[in-house]
Amino acid sequence: ALHNELQELRGNIRVFCRIRPPLKYENPNTSHLSVNKFDDENGCQTMEIVKSNNSGNSIPQHFKFDRIFDQNETNESVFEEIGQLVQSSLDGYNVCIFAYGQTGSGKTYTMLNPRNGIIPATITHIFSWIENLKERGWNYEINCQFIEIYNENIADLLRGDQEDEQTNTKHEIRHNQETNTTSVTNITLCPLNSEEQVESLLKKANRLRSTASTSANERSSRSHSVFIIFLKGSNHLTGEESDGILNLVDLAGSERINTSQVLGERLRETQNINKSLSCLGDVVHALGSNDAAKRHIPFRNSKLTYLLQYSLTGNSKTLMFVNISACESHLNETLNSLRFASKVN
Ligand code: ADP
Ligand code: MG
Repeated sequence: ALHNELQELRGNIRVFCRIRPPLKYENPNTSHLSVNKFDDENGCQTMEIVKSNNSGNSIPQHFKFDRIFDQNETNESVFEEIGQLVQSSLDGYNVCIFAYGQTGSGKTYTMLNPRNGIIPATITHIFSWIENLKERGWNYEINCQFIEIYNENIADLLRGDQEDEQTNTKHEIRHNQETNTTSVTNITLCPLNSEEQVESLLKKANRLRSTASTSANERSSRSHSVFIIFLKGSNHLTGEESDGILNLVDLAGSERINTSQVLGERLRETQNINKSLSCLGDVVHALGSNDAAKRHIPFRNSKLTYLLQYSLTGNSKTLMFVNISACESHLNETLNSLRFASKVN
């Protein structure tokens, strides 16, 4: 309930921080990081990070979020907090959920963990919600797409096994001004009929993502993946209709790669990642600010924001997870991510 009130105060953008625990082989000392969850009357939560400088002095820095998930909180508790937001797509809202952070910070764990990540949990819950809505006359048609944006090129992660992405198919983003909708040409639209389907869909996408030269894991850290769920509802008792879209986005790793140390294809790739993440930051920032700024939102500066333009405006709700690692060895990238978050917040 608290977050509903907040939503009205702050518009339709929220930023959550999620801290992942040190892994088995990592140094478990996380004393540089402390989370103070209850210090704020607005319901915001604050994190304090203490960084020692060269002369051994400690400088505390503070970062505020709508919600902070500390190292011990599970994917289930994350879903509890976002369930309502996800559910609003059944009422016709366009919802975007992003996971932002350096490679290894827990983005994929949060979004795609096969057991309880946001994508599988969303699909499971949607089927139980629409079952309940049937009693009130609602029927839903659910379809999904899974898109990868790699090097500013779009790939279809649910394409048929025979289709060779590299050679044949071109995917272009089309924005229809009249209906204010966006679509991508030649992307497989897969009907979702049961929650059991999700496992095989995700497996297939993962298989298509790996290429000979790069493992699926490496490639996924260099590209954005967007799982899109279309929810079309109609009510045979009242004649109402609803048309919602859920966009669940696992972003490319945000780590700064020094462009002077990479060449050729890798350089272009790095520049594209930097550009699209900073464009996303600019767009989300502008969406959360006053009307003047909203008039000049640079949606077209990257494929990702152009694709999501319609879902980010109008009848929409946006949530950004900033995933960080609790390890001190990741502190510099963690601070970069937190600064990005303060910019959009
Ligand atoms: P990213 O997608 O940001 O590169 P991953 O989601 O692959 O990062 O996470 C890196 C590693 O940390 C994986 O082994 C993952 O299982 C583990 N991990 C991430 N988040 C958590 C968490 N909240 N609790 C436990 N392990 C986690
Ligand atoms: Mg990942």
